[in-house]
Amino acid sequence: MSSINMSSTIPINKPWIGEEERGEVLNVLEENILTSAAKDGGKRVREFESLLRDYLKVKYVVAVNSGTTSLYAALLAADIKQGDEILLPSFTFVATANSVVATGAKPVFVDINKDDFTMDVCDLKAKITNKSKAIIPVHLYGHPSDMDEIIEIGDKHSLDIIEDACQSLGSTYKEKQTGTMGIMGCFSLYASKVLTCGEGGAVATNNDNLADNLKMIRNHGMIEGYDTRIFGLNFRLPELSAAIAKAQMNKLSKMLNLRRKNAELLTNLLSPITDKSKIKLPTETDEKKFNWYLYTITFEKNNIRDKTKNNMTNDKFGVTVYYKPAVHKTPYYERLAPSNKNDDLTQTEWASEHVLSLPVHPSVTNQDIERMAQSLKIHSLLD
Ligand SMILES: *Cc1c(COP(=O)(O)O)cnc(C)c1O
Repeated sequence: MSSINMSSTIPINKPWIGEEERGEVLNVLEENILTSAAKDGGKRVREFESLLRDYLKVKYVVAVNSGTTSLYAALLAADIKQGDEILLPSFTFVATANSVVATGAKPVFVDINKDDFTMDVCDLKAKITNKSKAIIPVHLYGHPSDMDEIIEIGDKHSLDIIEDACQSLGSTYKEKQTGTMGIMGCFSLYASKVLTCGEGGAVATNNDNLADNLKMIRNHGMIEGYDTRIFGLNFRLPELSAAIAKAQMNKLSKMLNLRRKNAELLTNLLSPITDKSKIKLPTETDEKKFNWYLYTITFEKNNIRDKTKNNMTNDKFGVTVYYKPAVHKTPYYERLAPSNKNDDLTQTEWASEHVLSLPVHPSVTNQDIERMAQSLKIHSLLD
């Protein structure tokens, strides 16, 4: 079969790997020390932690083996357990909720803002009970949540704030890095994220005691071996992965700049059609600066969203609808808490039907962005 268009699809995200990563990986293989069960971890783990600590300007970073385990370890360190209620959005990757369920606590889903898809603070207030123990704001798509308001509510009700910054490394809120404003911030190094080593994660904190506990929790609760003091599991990041993460840290600013360049070009090209196509573009504010993990636009009409998505997919742009269904609508969570079905999560359900994310990762070229904007223009025109 002959093909007219031999070019391959531009994926929604893609690791930006080069000589730096290769060199680091070969060094680990040469030294032949692939992991370390010491409390402070292996050489590359410590080097990666130190680079991330400096970038975030926090006292501690504890590397783990996924974003999911960073959330689970943080909840364990905060002493979350059965009977506790944890407030979190349903419009997120399911890992946020799964890590809560893993502790035995109950996830309580909070609705989102239509503007930037982060936690709605009014709904947050309404869902606090005397069992509430912690809030997990998710900086979705790299959009910072309303942290001042969330911290104020947390203080008032003595709730711990654990940030899910898995998508937001490099995003800032009032010039502070996301993941550094709660008692702990959780990061993912999964292959789609802005900084990756395939699978990996990290917890940031300024609290001595939490940092100490996190190091034990990632290592079966041990300090010196066979002296389990608290509950933990094996959440250690392998040295080969840490070596890649370390090399990626040295390119972080460069990668974020390329994402920003792509996002800004896309905004320039799409701004003239927002009225005609009835779409809304993601916009930063003075307080909230994005890492441009995903460039997520909103369609006024669901049928145009779906039509545009299908046609752009045919045009080989890896445009993606994230979080449809939202977590509370997935079969497991419907069984877990049938009552959630009727929870007031109106904006969450609306968002699932109206958003579309576009690729702006570092390998996307200006030419790709121009072609993508053109494709979107053609397909999103109202009939
Ligand atoms: C990716 C992600 C996670 C989980 O990270 P993994 O490294 O895939 O385990 C958690 N929360 C959010 C919002 C994410 O995007």
